[in-house]
Amino acid sequence: MQSRKVIVVGAGNAALCAALAAREQGAEVLVLERAPKPLRGGNTAFTAGAMRVAYDGVEDLRRLMPDLTDEEIARTDFGAYPAESFLDDLARVTEYRTDPDLAALLVEQSMPTLRWMAGKGVRFVPIYGRQAFKVDGRFTFWGGLTVEASGGGPGLVEALTRAAEREGVRVEYGARAVSLLHDSGGVHGVTIRQNGQIRDERADAVVLASGGFQANTEMRTKYLGPAWDLAKVRGTKFNTGDGIRMALEAGASPVGNWSGCHAVGWELNAPEFGDLSVGDHFQKHSYPWGIMVNADGRRFVDEGADFRNYTYAKYGRRILEQPGHFAWQVFDQQVSHLLRDEYRIRQVTKVTAPTLEELARKLDGVDVEGFLAELAAYNAAVGTDTPFNPNVRDGRRTHGLTVDKTNWANRIEQGPFEAYAVTCGITFTFGGVRINTGAEVLDTDLSPIPGLYAAGELVGGIFYFNYPGGSGLTNGSVFGRIAGTGAGAHGA
Ligand SMILES: Cc1cc2nc3c(=O)[nH]c(=O)nc-3n(C[C@H](O)[C@H](O)[C@H](O)COP(=O)(O)OP(=O)(O)OC[C@H]3O[C@@H](n4cnc5c(N)ncnc54)[C@H](O)[C@@H]3O)c2cc1C
Repeated sequence: MQSRKVIVVGAGNAALCAALAAREQGAEVLVLERAPKPLRGGNTAFTAGAMRVAYDGVEDLRRLMPDLTDEEIARTDFGAYPAESFLDDLARVTEYRTDPDLAALLVEQSMPTLRWMAGKGVRFVPIYGRQAFKVDGRFTFWGGLTVEASGGGPGLVEALTRAAEREGVRVEYGARAVSLLHDSGGVHGVTIRQNGQIRDERADAVVLASGGFQANTEMRTKYLGPAWDLAKVRGTKFNTGDGIRMALEAGASPVGNWSGCHAVGWELNAPEFGDLSVGDHFQKHSYPWGIMVNADGRRFVDEGADFRNYTYAKYGRRILEQPGHFAWQVFDQQVSHLLRDEYRIRQVTKVTAPTLEELARKLDGVDVEGFLAELAAYNAAVGTDTPFNPNVRDGRRTHGLTVDKTNWANRIEQGPFEAYAVTCGITFTFGGVRINTGAEVLDTDLSPIPGLYAAGELVGGIFYFNYPGGSGLTNGSVFGRIAGTGAGAHGA
């Protein structure tokens, strides 16, 4: 009997999970990756590999990370992140718009899927560096994010690619899917452009996992709105919305937050697209410990509204909205030791000064008087009764400002002072194609398009306005696995 054939479009996390799951169904699997091999891995390769996963306690983590030692467990408070908390976070940050069925599946399948990946050779480790602070000799994890793939994004891509190759998946690089072969009976393959040649490749089912449209300036401006043409792209230049366009041409229903995206504070002078040698280090995510000011010298967000995991993905948009589309993050010596490793890279726009007056003159593009007046008002408004504690929402706040800082507020008073210039870096777009809980793509009558599945960034309906850090990879893995399982069994 001839085996069924599945084509997977893309070779990032969602695609490789789909390919592995389709192989488990006994299908022949061809992965098409538009990037040349040295640039493989999509946005996945740019990540730190942080993955949000529900767990009820350290024993769940020990099953996922068998290398975890008794000594590590003794010196760490891993807490718990039960499914209800994950679902609550997802619902809260998306302002209750997340698709309830897809969200529930994402949460419920997070741990089983990560364990399945571990079984394929992905090693997971605790994120000590970025998600835990040492207090009284013990590391304490905060913000629901505890686990990362060993070797970060590149390590994850390497482990998944190795597993795919070991299990007989064929991966072709420099192979761009340009359209779907489809008729009234559904999808039957893809048209590919490779080495300047166009060819058709037929299959029983196709999984689209080729990312969002963030690297497409025209689509970005068209759907996200004015000024989004000026945002920097944090990751791969290859996610230009091809999969979304192909699916819509085949009759797929668009869904979700098409005017929304994940976007962060990003090095002002970063290149147009991500640079794999820098990875995610252009990001500047320690603003909860300081303040951010715009060209008028004014603060414009509550830097301490929540743990950075729940604010960073929406603050990029707020920076883009400022005059000149930039901001400066300002810190003093009381908190400079808390700054993440990304503040210590070479490619950083940084100024330092012993006094605030001297710092003000060095903040390129910022109104000096406006900044000094803002600082004075901010410092005067900080309440110091509540102790500062970076591991919890400490409630140490300002009072009476137009924009209060509601946690982790310290006076900015101990020089030397440091400031870092940021602009908006877009990570991925939220709008995409509609799927059901079987990761089948639905048409505009909301019926499945036979033979078409989708996973990862190009799926809409899960993230709106904001995003709980570490959910992107988990989303790709969970729905990639479901899509691949469905595609591999399609027509059997
Ligand atoms: C700097 C940065 C840091 C991040 N950090 C994290 C993190 O720590 N944790 C987290 O959960 N998320 C993180 N994210 C988000 C995360 O990267 C994405 O949510 C996730 O990787 C998306 O996976 P994916 O498989 O859908 O897309 P991708 O990994 O981008 O894969 C899509 C692939 O499709 C290919 N492709 C595109 N068009 C075509 C075509 N026409 N034909 C063939 N192939 C095509 C692309 O080349 C790409 O390889 C980060 C993103 C960035 C940019």
